[in-house]
Amino acid sequence: MSDMTDKSAAPEKKDFIRKIMDEDLEAGRVKTIVTRFPPEPNGMLHIGHSKAIVIDFGTAEERGGYTYLRFDDTNPTTEDTMYVESIQRDVHWLGFDWGDRLRFASDYFDQLYEWAEVLIRDGKAYVDSLNEAEIREHRGTVKQAGERSRYADRSIEENLDLFRRMKAGEFPDGSHTLRARIDMANPNMKMRDPLIYRIRHAHHHRTGDKWCIYPMYDYAHPLSDAIEGITHSLCTLEFENNREVYDWFVENVPCNARPRQYEFARLNISYTVMSKRKLLELIEAGIVDGWDDPRMPTLSAYRRRGYTPTAIRAFVNSIGVSKANSIVDKMQLENAQREELNYTAPRRMAVLEPLKVVLTNYPEGEEEHLEAVNNPERPEDGVRNVPFSRELYIEREDFMEDPPKKFFRLAPGREVRLRYAYFITCEEVVKDANGTITELRCTYDPATRGGDAPDGRKVKATLHWVSAGHAVEAEVRLYDHLFAHPNPLSVKEGEDWKQNLNPTSLVTLKQCKLEPALMEVDQGYRCQFERKGYFYVDQDSKPGALVFNRIVTLRDTWAKIEKQLKHQGKL
Ligand code: ATP
Ligand code: MG
Repeated sequence: MSDMTDKSAAPEKKDFIRKIMDEDLEAGRVKTIVTRFPPEPNGMLHIGHSKAIVIDFGTAEERGGYTYLRFDDTNPTTEDTMYVESIQRDVHWLGFDWGDRLRFASDYFDQLYEWAEVLIRDGKAYVDSLNEAEIREHRGTVKQAGERSRYADRSIEENLDLFRRMKAGEFPDGSHTLRARIDMANPNMKMRDPLIYRIRHAHHHRTGDKWCIYPMYDYAHPLSDAIEGITHSLCTLEFENNREVYDWFVENVPCNARPRQYEFARLNISYTVMSKRKLLELIEAGIVDGWDDPRMPTLSAYRRRGYTPTAIRAFVNSIGVSKANSIVDKMQLENAQREELNYTAPRRMAVLEPLKVVLTNYPEGEEEHLEAVNNPERPEDGVRNVPFSRELYIEREDFMEDPPKKFFRLAPGREVRLRYAYFITCEEVVKDANGTITELRCTYDPATRGGDAPDGRKVKATLHWVSAGHAVEAEVRLYDHLFAHPNPLSVKEGEDWKQNLNPTSLVTLKQCKLEPALMEVDQGYRCQFERKGYFYVDQDSKPGALVFNRIVTLRDTWAKIEKQLKHQGKL
């Protein structure tokens, strides 16, 4: 793509994270920027993650630094190698590379364990034997200080002995935990003696049955950062309160690095839900076909639907890296994709809901080829020849027998232009026994070849068309928002958010008629169907049984719907 349209490289304005990094470099506080992207392999990545990925990889890359891909696999019961693979594929697809810096938090389990013993020996951690409910009660509230456990005063020797026996598997789940001795009265609840280890007799997808104690996120995360020498640990705002704990652990174990955590706003998009747990609910309820159902907000779904990684990156850059949470209008993502495809996608003609047109004054058995522009945005892409003949298809919705005032397309007695071809006039409407229109009989004006009348007369509409005898058939899947409400989670008490669906989020059209230039296209091909949107050859497509997905429409159709909803007080 040319520089003119490539907005995927770097944002125009320097955000607060980039400013901090540049100041740290200038002041000599860090020599090289090192970041990490730390997904938990418990689901597939969604468009929200792409914001984190673009920021983590982008900021380091721009400054000659590097980025780790580190799986946060500290929770053995929800994780799956399938997700580990899909996440790597998605990050690569977005255009980022971690080189040989693929890591798992579980790579550090031995080191993390050793440091936990150091904390115990320093009197900074203790084995607690309160159960989960008691721990919660002892924690206090935002207004009220907590109370330290009656087990907190065990001797260092007893703590070490119990911790080693926890590791050796002597105790059942939930019977003991290891906790940091910080401050049960701290206004930040996260600082009230946070858990370091818990017992979980569970098989781990990488370490197998080696461990039956697993480190908590608040402990494993900062120390994994420290082990890797991460300089700027970037995460979303919900971890703001965890920063104090983060710093405490980094300061209290003998690690050599001093990573710092910075938080930015999560990306939320209208008409969708974003959390992996909610996406899994949609799959389990059978509302979508799986993680890569093209209506899902996952990266695998966007890829399948036909979105490009460059458009997603351009979108993420366009929304910036602020500290204020908000819901971004889905239209912004669609616009980024439209803008790119407007420039890159060849134009083709496809009739999605065909209505036969017979040109009664066009000689039977004859055909000709008309020149059509491949992409008006890029004259260098040239032209192609499109066959024209006596029998054609036009879009059913482009004809009305009894048109209202503002309908300017084809109607009885009316003349319109067929794109790149001729003016035609509708002379007769043919119907079947049920009254359904089966065919239009029209005449064409041979003097208008190419689409203009030498006498200067005008028509009010230009229609796309496909020659019936030359048409290629295809299935076309029209995708739209999965939800009918911009914020699917804003439901009344007792209502299920999953019911707020858009009934036409998928419309499958069979036997669409495509111009013959599309006969040979392979999976991965993108083009614009004139007047209909941008389309992509789906992975189900085969030669002779083509399947296209609609990536986006040509214009935003939801703005109008939202306006109506607002007007009716429903938004
Ligand atoms: P989810 O809530 O969807 O399950 P998560 O935060 O649990 O997401 P992780 O796999 O733990 O997902 O996240 C990996 C990284 O991606 C984290 O640094 C997290 O802050 C970031 N991230 C997750 N969701 C978003 C989002 N919507 N916008 C920006 N960053 C996100
Ligand atoms: Mg999570």
